[in-house]
Amino acid sequence: MQEITQIRFAGPADNDDLWAVTHDPSPALEDGQVRVRVDHVSVDPAMRSWITEKRSYIPPVKPGEVMRALGVGEVVASAAEGVVPGDWVTGFLGLASEVVLPARHVQKIDPLLAEPRAYLSGLGMTGYTAYFGLSEIGKPKAGETVVVSAASGGVGSIACQVAQNMGARVIGIAGGPGKTGWLRETLKLDGVIDYKNEDIGAALDREAPDGIDVFFDNVGGETLDQVLARINRHARIVLCGAISQYGDLFNARGPANYLELITQSALMQGFTMRDYMRRVPEAMGHLLKMQGAGKLTYRDHVLEGLGSFPEAFKMLYRGENHGKLLIRL
Ligand code: NDP
Repeated sequence: MQEITQIRFAGPADNDDLWAVTHDPSPALEDGQVRVRVDHVSVDPAMRSWITEKRSYIPPVKPGEVMRALGVGEVVASAAEGVVPGDWVTGFLGLASEVVLPARHVQKIDPLLAEPRAYLSGLGMTGYTAYFGLSEIGKPKAGETVVVSAASGGVGSIACQVAQNMGARVIGIAGGPGKTGWLRETLKLDGVIDYKNEDIGAALDREAPDGIDVFFDNVGGETLDQVLARINRHARIVLCGAISQYGDLFNARGPANYLELITQSALMQGFTMRDYMRRVPEAMGHLLKMQGAGKLTYRDHVLEGLGSFPEAFKMLYRGENHGKLLIRL
């Protein structure tokens, strides 16, 4: 089987020569294990923290190990009760063409309900993250103004739609006219901001003249600061991610405008999906209901072959992905 192995830990802004393509014989199945042919893997901004030797919500991948990645795949052999060849599963399968792992480490998915790769995208962790960040922290009320950063990306685009579905007025921030055009025309957001071509502060004043009640942040840095300067009383800031800071995780910059949280009695809270794993069925139910009502659109940016991973990894930080970034094996 083919894999992508991490060569060394990453340093600041260091994305080159981190990976090796390796080939290993597939191990024999042990009791309780399944062999899975990997079909699609997810390329996530969090991978930067998974290869950095710094405390996080999950231990880093060590040099020499197959890179961690969420994936979907088909069971081709099973020594586990309740799982049979032909079942489809999702979990941390890793960047490998085939994987042998304990059946308890994967969850079955229904390929008749949605195509398997959707379980990495709008109907997977991407969608669940948007749902829990908004329903548990952002809690937008009808008519409130919600701003979403990296709004045309995987998590951001679902967050926009979950907020719309809750009756909020939604403003999306994204880089470039292609992305803002998609947000305006396809998702029909109430306002869009192209942070690469306009001043974020002035654009926020234009799109949110009455202030911001909820900010679903994927980006951090300057965007977070500009939003904080415009929050309303009792605003909720959902810290989902901070991709602008991932280049140097040891020197991530916090917001200069954090005192606004005091003066506006506002809440700023981070989270990871680890907090909500037991409630995945609830998120799935919500997203399927939205989908059934024609209120959920997700788009995937799919690259071909494991060998595309090193370039795919860099694409995220250059904003070159249009939708959830996946690799088809
Ligand atoms: P996206 O599909 O949103 O892709 C990343 C996007 O981030 C890029 O396309 C780019 O969009 C934007 N971006 C990249 N660099 C910068 C920068 N320096 N400044 C501003 N924007 C930038 O990825 P995901 O949907 O997979 O992830 C989005 C966020 O959600 C990430 O921060 C991730 O860490 C977080 N996340 C958090 C989870 C949690 O449990 N808390 C779980 C999953 C994801 P543009 O062209 O618009 O700049």
